[in-house]
Amino acid sequence: MAKLDWDKLGFEFVETEKMYISHHPIDGEWDSGELVPYGPIQISPAAGVLNYGQGLFEGMKAQTAQDGTIVLFRPVENARRMANGAQRLLMPPFPEERFVKAVKETVAANKEYVPPYGKGSLYIRPVLWGTGAQLGLGPSPEYTFCIFVSPVGPYFKSGLEPIKLEISAEYHRAAPLGTGGIKAIGNYAGALMPAKKIKAKGYNEVIYLDAAHNTNIEEVGTSNFFCVKNGELHTPRLTGSILPGITRDAVIRIAREMMDLTVNERDIPYKEVFNADEVFCTGTATVLAPIGTIAFKGEEHTFNNFEAGPRTVELYNTLTGIQKRERDDVFGWVEVVEV
Ligand SMILES: *Cc1c(COP(=O)(O)O)cnc(C)c1O
Repeated sequence: MAKLDWDKLGFEFVETEKMYISHHPIDGEWDSGELVPYGPIQISPAAGVLNYGQGLFEGMKAQTAQDGTIVLFRPVENARRMANGAQRLLMPPFPEERFVKAVKETVAANKEYVPPYGKGSLYIRPVLWGTGAQLGLGPSPEYTFCIFVSPVGPYFKSGLEPIKLEISAEYHRAAPLGTGGIKAIGNYAGALMPAKKIKAKGYNEVIYLDAAHNTNIEEVGTSNFFCVKNGELHTPRLTGSILPGITRDAVIRIAREMMDLTVNERDIPYKEVFNADEVFCTGTATVLAPIGTIAFKGEEHTFNNFEAGPRTVELYNTLTGIQKRERDDVFGWVEVVEV
């Protein structure tokens, strides 16, 4: 492999040695799957995924822990979430135990690309696609499960820097009773234009409101939303249009079980948020990002003097401490990859 400069890693795609691939033929089962050299795949222009968006993705990461082992965070949760999504999109789920095993094999086969402790992580992208050819709208006659990986730098290079967000008054992300609650590929391209527009105004990401009432906070582009008010944590309840983040779940459990904080999962009208003491968002890529400013219709609201608040910092330190085995893994969330 070409020598990587770990200090220069961002979030751009870097090719690695190997990818995992498995196929599911008509009327069959998933084949035994294999690691193959990373590279382009052949696909019919009539494939279900290309024409009708019958596809799902996952996002997870492997990193080097303090003790030098390579670890994953709650991989079975990603397996489960993809299986749920497969059910919704009428695709054959990839069995959960096989998913976790395949992720571990793919990471082990690319171990040279896992950044050293503290230098970032190996981002893991499992995908499930309808790859058989078909003309009319219907479930694809064939499926492909693939895992590729790419080394990425740490989201925060120097401490927890607050980000600036804007609530979109123009666009929604997902509809009630739709597919917002699964990582369906079709949910994401619609967010490109809203993100481009708000970035041109100097903001980092979009906050979406719920499509039914245009009132309640749903989530940020690809991360879940939290705020702290009067010492309690609040996060939008999972309505079906919000993606059930694994980081979200981890933060709720750390807050309740380790920090003894009250956590309220409920509808959060956006107006309430302007008075919050701390605001942050969570996801695999960012882990936990403090939100310093939220703008809406030209008005900016700043939180905690544009600094990460005390609960935000404690949650971040606890979560990343568990993930890197700097702290006791009290929930049994961390899994070692044998290399
Ligand atoms: C993936 C994703 C998240 C975060 O989920 P994690 O499991 O924490 O990475 C949040 N919102 C959306 C829309 C997502 O796609």
